[in-house]
Amino acid sequence: MKYVGAHVSSSGGVFNSPVRASEIGATAFALFTKNQRQWKAKPLDVETVDKFHENMEKFGFKPHQVLPHDSYLINLGNPEKEKREKSLNAFVDEVERCKTLGLDRLNFHPGSHLKKISEEESLNLIAENMNRTLEQTNSVSLIIENTAGQGSNLGYKFEHLAYLIDKVEDKSRVGVCIDTCHLFSSGYDIRTKESYEKTMSEFEKVVGFQYLQGMHINDSKAKLGSKVDRHHSLGKGEIGLDAFKFIMNDSRIDEIPLVLETIDPSIWAEEIATLFKFQRV
Ligand SMILES: [Zn+2]
Ligand SMILES: [Zn+2]
Repeated sequence: MKYVGAHVSSSGGVFNSPVRASEIGATAFALFTKNQRQWKAKPLDVETVDKFHENMEKFGFKPHQVLPHDSYLINLGNPEKEKREKSLNAFVDEVERCKTLGLDRLNFHPGSHLKKISEEESLNLIAENMNRTLEQTNSVSLIIENTAGQGSNLGYKFEHLAYLIDKVEDKSRVGVCIDTCHLFSSGYDIRTKESYEKTMSEFEKVVGFQYLQGMHINDSKAKLGSKVDRHHSLGKGEIGLDAFKFIMNDSRIDEIPLVLETIDPSIWAEEIATLFKFQRV
C-alpha cells in the first residue's frame, strides 16, 4: 500500500493538519508540531491533543502515515557546545510532542559542521545527541533525512546516513527519509529506469530499505549534483515524472508516508492524484 500526501499547514492548531490532508485527497501527511522557526513553543494542551486524535480517527490516519518534521533551527552537530545543547533540548521536546500526539517518528536534518570541525567530528556529535535523545524518550523513532549538501550540511550521501545508524545504539528507533530533490541535487540520478535502479540498489547496499520510514517527493529546480536545495512541482523540474512512476511502482517503498514538499500547494491535490494514477494495478 502506498500512502501519499503533502506537508500541510498546522496553523490554527495541529488538529487542523489531518483535515487539510484529507481535503487534498491525501493518505499521508507531514506537519510541524510547533512553529519551525522558533526555539520555544508552549506545551500541547489536552484539548489540542484530543482534537488531534479525533481528527486522525475521523479522517482515517494511522501514525505510520504521518511524518512530523522538526524545527529548522536544530543542529545536533553544531561545533559550539552551548548551541548544540540548545539543539538537543529542543530536539527532545520535539520527540516528546510527537509522542504526546500519538505519532511514532520524527523527521530531522542531520546537522551542519559549519566549516569549524570535520564532517566526521560533526557526525559523531549528531550520533551522540541521537543516543542521548533516545535515552531520554521512548517509542518515537528518529528519521534522518538525506540532504542536498548545500553549505556545510551533512547527510548528502548514503554513507553519512549509514554512519549515523551504525552509531545509534537502539536500531529499532532509527530510520531514514529520502527526499528525491535532495537525492538528485546531491548527485544520485533517478531519471531513467537504469539510473533509478542503480541508485536504489546502492541505497539497499549502504543503508538498507528496512530503515526507509518516509520519503519527500519533490522535483528539483537545480541540476544533478549541484548541491543546491530548490524544490519544484512534479514534472516541472530537472528530475521529470518518470522517477515518480518508478517510486510508485517500487514494492520496497510500501507502507510509509510519501510526502510532497513541492512549491505550489494549490496543485497538491492534482499531484497526489497523478502519483496514485502512476500505480500499475
Ligand atoms: Zn525534505
Ligand atoms: Zn529541501
